[in-house]
Amino acid sequence: MEINTNAANVRTQLENLVRLQDLDMEMLQRRNQIKTLEADIQQAENGVAEQRQALEQHNKEMEKLLKDRREAERTVKERQEQVSKLQGQKFDVKTNEAYNTIESEIKTKKQEIGMLEERVLEMMMSEDELKKIVAGSQVAVKIGEGKIQSDQAKIRENMAGFEVEIQKLQAEWQEAAKVVQAEYLDRYIRLREAKGGMAIARIENDVCMGCRLSIRPQASIELRKYRTLLFCDNCARILYVEA
Ligand SMILES: [Zn+2]
Repeated sequence: MEINTNAANVRTQLENLVRLQDLDMEMLQRRNQIKTLEADIQQAENGVAEQRQALEQHNKEMEKLLKDRREAERTVKERQEQVSKLQGQKFDVKTNEAYNTIESEIKTKKQEIGMLEERVLEMMMSEDELKKIVAGSQVAVKIGEGKIQSDQAKIRENMAGFEVEIQKLQAEWQEAAKVVQAEYLDRYIRLREAKGGMAIARIENDVCMGCRLSIRPQASIELRKYRTLLFCDNCARILYVEA
């Protein structure tokens, strides 16, 4: 009679330990799903941050281009003024030599003006190209930001759902834990930390499914009598047999 009571007790303990492990696995799964969703959010945010950076870069390029063009335009104006001044001086000189020097100077300055004007045209074309790129960049940032807002609301809702499920599972875990003796519960928790969440292992054909090593053939027979808890000699996990 006493043995029967004890057997029933050991069996209940073991069944509840298995239940604890199932609940722990389920909670772990939810936590991993939350982590995946967090990573999704982070990835989307990184994507938009990159787009913002690209936009900033394009704006800087545009600023530089405009500055360079204004500079070139200023130089053109300066050279043109110098040319008019030289044109005036040309008729005041007394010698042919001085006249030729001024003519050659005018020629050089006109060449410079020609090159600068070409450069200004090139820069204006680059500006047009860059304007399109900046506009595209602005649209990409706006779309990215909008998508993040709508996606994140949904993702956060899913995350909250998983949190609620975890709380429910945690409550079930506490209930099941009440049935387990303190020393077994301690052992279970320590093994769970040490064995990557798997503190309890099933026996299949005299093999511990936790470490995949053979156990004493007697172990499964003893286990079915439910006299006491058994542990794997190799990995120390709590052993059980399918009922
Ligand atoms: Zn083992």
